[in-house]
Amino acid sequence: MENNYDIVVIGSGPGGYVAAVRAAQLGYKTAIVEKYTVLGGTCTNVGCIPSKALLDSTEHYHTAHTKFESHGINIENLKINFEQLMKRKAGVVNQNISGLNYLMKKNKIDIIEGKASFVNNSEISVAKNDGEKLSVNSKYFIIATGSKPSTIKGIAIDKERIITSTEALKLTEIPNTMAIIGGGVIGVEMASIYARIGVKVTILEYADSLIPSMDKELGKELKKILSKDGVEILLKHKVQSAKNDGSSVTINYIDDKDNNIDLNVDYCLVAVGRKPYTDGLGLENINVRLDDKGRIETDSNLKTNENNIYAIGDVIAGPMLAHKAEEEGVFVAEVINGQKPHIDYKLIPSVVYTWPEVASVGFSEEQLKKENRTYRVGKFPFAASGRARAAMESDGFVKVLSDPHYGELLGVHVIGPRAADLIAQAVIGMHYETTDEDMIRISYAHPTYSEALKEAYLIASGQGAINL
Ligand code: FAD
Ligand code: NAD
Repeated sequence: MENNYDIVVIGSGPGGYVAAVRAAQLGYKTAIVEKYTVLGGTCTNVGCIPSKALLDSTEHYHTAHTKFESHGINIENLKINFEQLMKRKAGVVNQNISGLNYLMKKNKIDIIEGKASFVNNSEISVAKNDGEKLSVNSKYFIIATGSKPSTIKGIAIDKERIITSTEALKLTEIPNTMAIIGGGVIGVEMASIYARIGVKVTILEYADSLIPSMDKELGKELKKILSKDGVEILLKHKVQSAKNDGSSVTINYIDDKDNNIDLNVDYCLVAVGRKPYTDGLGLENINVRLDDKGRIETDSNLKTNENNIYAIGDVIAGPMLAHKAEEEGVFVAEVINGQKPHIDYKLIPSVVYTWPEVASVGFSEEQLKKENRTYRVGKFPFAASGRARAAMESDGFVKVLSDPHYGELLGVHVIGPRAADLIAQAVIGMHYETTDEDMIRISYAHPTYSEALKEAYLIASGQGAINL
């Protein structure tokens, strides 16, 4: 194998592999180094893809269980085959890994298996799994080493009973009970997966709402919906400790009334955020700095303190999202190529794949208030949508925030069916700095969920809804 490259990417998650493909498209001799035996990083192996596979399977079961009878479909003996559910998920992951191998081959990108460590700013040493060490030189390096789950004081993750999302995605039995520490994105997605198949799930969240980083009304609505599905949601609760008792876990917490309480569950899933991963990368041998949160510091071109070393994705500042990492992968390859790419970080959408889904772009109402900005609100419930009624999907709403003077869209927040896909039109609208009025002058197919967006734009613009 060659050991002299134009660009070497370290890490094969959505940041790394996309950077490698774009670099190769631009004509650079490129290699990607990955310490695992398969490509894809967190997203493909233990994140986005397996979680969505399980969310889809369990949602089918839940729909069959709760709605089929009303649709006039009777199924006898409906039951979960947990082994098959996990097997299908593994198959989906493998299909994606095969797709990545194909992409590397198609773009003539060398895959180097092993853990990379900087020797100096133009050389890395790769510790291969068979013990061999390989020296690789490159003009440029792109660090895309991602993140790992973090925990809180008093809780040691043992991966047996006190687990992270990685273990929760490959349990071999359906537990009776599960506590989830953290009601953020991972917390509510995992709660959905397990509550739908009959697990008694308790979410213990420190903040006063679920998904607290998004517009507060979304968290409130999601709490109502998940509670209907049997998830117990305890807000303003402070977890102190968790102890593996062998076949269960005892969690100690202070509740919202200052009571000290013990909770015994089969599994305790810790979902309190993730931390950047730079262990063993040999950063001490180069001039790359970390910030106070352990993230690699970069400038506006995503360049580190070393002129030929860039960093992208979860290992740097910004939202820990696969599509943010992908954008940055393309961005750095184009920067190295002398182009002037641009990423509008304010317009990176956030999506939560519960059902109904939650999706947001732009400012939340809380952020606008904090900035003392005036705004108008257009809110339309899915309960008033003909399409939603036909599908028995009437939970949730669309909320549009726009500028009171010119109507420019400031934020769009959706909790409802297919919100993850619906948000794309709001992102396009905001990218082109359209107004709420612009958005009502285009045709929306009837009956569709997208009409709920039109109605919310109508209300925000002051014209008023047609169907409310
Ligand atoms: P990663 O995907 O973490 O990849 C980093 C890679 O670098 C890893 O393969 C690692 O082995 C490798 N590596 C590290 N150090 C070295 C080294 N020294 N040498 C060689 N290789 C190394 N985001 C979304 O946008 N949508 C979702 O639906 C979504 N769902 C998620 C669900 C879960 C359960 C989790 C945990 C995360 C989810 N995310 C989701 C977040 C998403 O997975 C991350 O934002 C994304 O994977 C970050 O990509 P990355 O390329 O920066 O790093
Ligand atoms: P998160 O930041 O979304 O949520 C962590 C939650 O834990 C917060 O609500 C926080 O208030 C709570 N928390 C913190 N300390 C606590 C304590 N001591 N007790 C109780 N609650 C506490 O992080 P996450 O859910 O772990 O997800 C990690 C990352 O993965 C996120 O940045 C997210 O972007 C990404 N991810 C994205 C998706 C998606 O895009 N659909 C899905 C899963 C994960």
